[in-house]
Amino acid sequence: MSKTFAVIGDPIDHSLSPNIHSAAFRELNLECSYIAYRIPKGELKDGVEALKKIKISGFNVTIPHKVEMMKYLDRIDESCSLIGAVNTVENNDGVLKGYNTDMDGFLDPFKKKNLGIENSSVLLLGAGGAARAIVAGFAKEKAQHITIANRTLENANNLAQFANKIGLDADTIELDKVGHNLQDYNIIVNATSIGLKNESSPISLESIKPKTIVYDIVYMPMNTDFLKKAKEKGATIIYGYEMLLGQAIRAFEIWHGTEAPYNAMKKALLGGV
Ligand code: NDP
Repeated sequence: MSKTFAVIGDPIDHSLSPNIHSAAFRELNLECSYIAYRIPKGELKDGVEALKKIKISGFNVTIPHKVEMMKYLDRIDESCSLIGAVNTVENNDGVLKGYNTDMDGFLDPFKKKNLGIENSSVLLLGAGGAARAIVAGFAKEKAQHITIANRTLENANNLAQFANKIGLDADTIELDKVGHNLQDYNIIVNATSIGLKNESSPISLESIKPKTIVYDIVYMPMNTDFLKKAKEKGATIIYGYEMLLGQAIRAFEIWHGTEAPYNAMKKALLGGV
């Protein structure tokens, strides 16, 4: 029987998920389809009911529903309860189980490239939903310390409390106070939305050591100014699309219980960026 999957959010037209998952279905000859379904803020309950009615097999959740969707789950995976937000839902005969694949997606490129995190010193820019999944990832992989830099210091402080609670030593700073003393950081991540509109890098990377791992989770455009500046300094780069691909692969494996066709999904994604 053919299965239907979806991504829900608002806006949703720009989503790359239908392309990535459809490519995987084609590659493996699966009788499945994947649609983008716009659900405006405030209409999530009805939207989820509609998805259940059409017997959706699973769906991804994006802005603005990642936290509110928690209310409509019957079962919650550990990844999801830890982060407090859901991005992947599995539907088993009307029983909805939520997962958060952002953390695994974020960590995936480190594993693929054999880049270690243990005992590293991290500078994280941003303190929103994605940053929370990233903090959970660094705690899991036993980073030594994280500095959270954010425009709104209060949000950084809240995230630092979460980091401490899960065993990761953290301090905070306002984003515009990050200076020219970045030589001690092994990993620098941009998890703000700066770059989406081609803005210049949120911080100066002049003082980083060569081989510092610089990771931008913004995936459109692929070559953000932040990453361009990092390349000029000889940094090891991780692109936002690599996280996007990593979370999609994990979602695929949850839904289909089989290994995802990485190369076909990557090709679909890079063709679309
Ligand atoms: P949120 O809205 O939860 O958080 C946004 C963050 O960006 C906050 O820290 C916010 O700071 C900061 N910010 C926004 N605008 C500015 C600005 N003009 N100047 C300084 N700081 C700013 O979003 P998410 O955490 O969900 O997503 C963040 C980014 O990550 C988005 O671009 C999204 O597309 C990308 N993303 C990529 C993924 C991938 O797979 N590659 C997965 C998930 C997200 P403040 O607290 O002060 O408001």
